[in-house]
Amino acid sequence: MDVRVRALETLLVAKGYVDAAAIDRLIETYETRVGPHHGAAVVARSWTDAGFRAWLERDATAAIASMGFSGRQGEHMVAVFNTPQEHHLVVCTLCSCYPWPVLGLPPVWYKSAPYRSRAVREPRAVLGDFGLQLPEATRVRVWDSTAEIRYMVVPMRPAGTDGWDETRLARLVTRDSMIGTGQALAPGAREPHPATVQRDSGGGPAASARPQHP
Ligand code: FE
Repeated sequence: MDVRVRALETLLVAKGYVDAAAIDRLIETYETRVGPHHGAAVVARSWTDAGFRAWLERDATAAIASMGFSGRQGEHMVAVFNTPQEHHLVVCTLCSCYPWPVLGLPPVWYKSAPYRSRAVREPRAVLGDFGLQLPEATRVRVWDSTAEIRYMVVPMRPAGTDGWDETRLARLVTRDSMIGTGQALAPGAREPHPATVQRDSGGGPAASARPQHP
């Protein structure tokens, strides 16, 4: 894949269709500037500001843009809210549609064929691979992000965080909790579940539990 991408980029640059420096800037922007810390700020605000939460439910695109987060792959946002009764999980069954302005670029596993197919067929098993066991009574809803609509999960606010300000709360909001493959961290938890912080491989289920290609 790396070689194919390089070949394609070389051709496009040679023909003058794209500028290599512009591509580098785009990648750098999404690797270092735009990322899950944006989404975490949105979630934290929704936990502390009922008016903002209502706005996020009504028109997520506008509510998120009000915090300065907008742009490509985030033109039509929908926020779905986890409750004890209902847990939301986001996937793109076709490819890798993902809300860039709030989460940055998707992790490798999000684009994998096993995640894309299993999230729909057996969401609880997928959640289990991420170390997330939900009560049987909790309904799991799977949302299929598309080129038109990008979903973002608002996880439940952890217990024991009364009186916390937005900045402090935002540190509890992980990337996976906004995809639905995890939950927000409990106060005092220093790291997400080990299965979700393999930073060198972009996170995702532990290797042993990682879905195998058919
Ligand atoms: Fe897609």
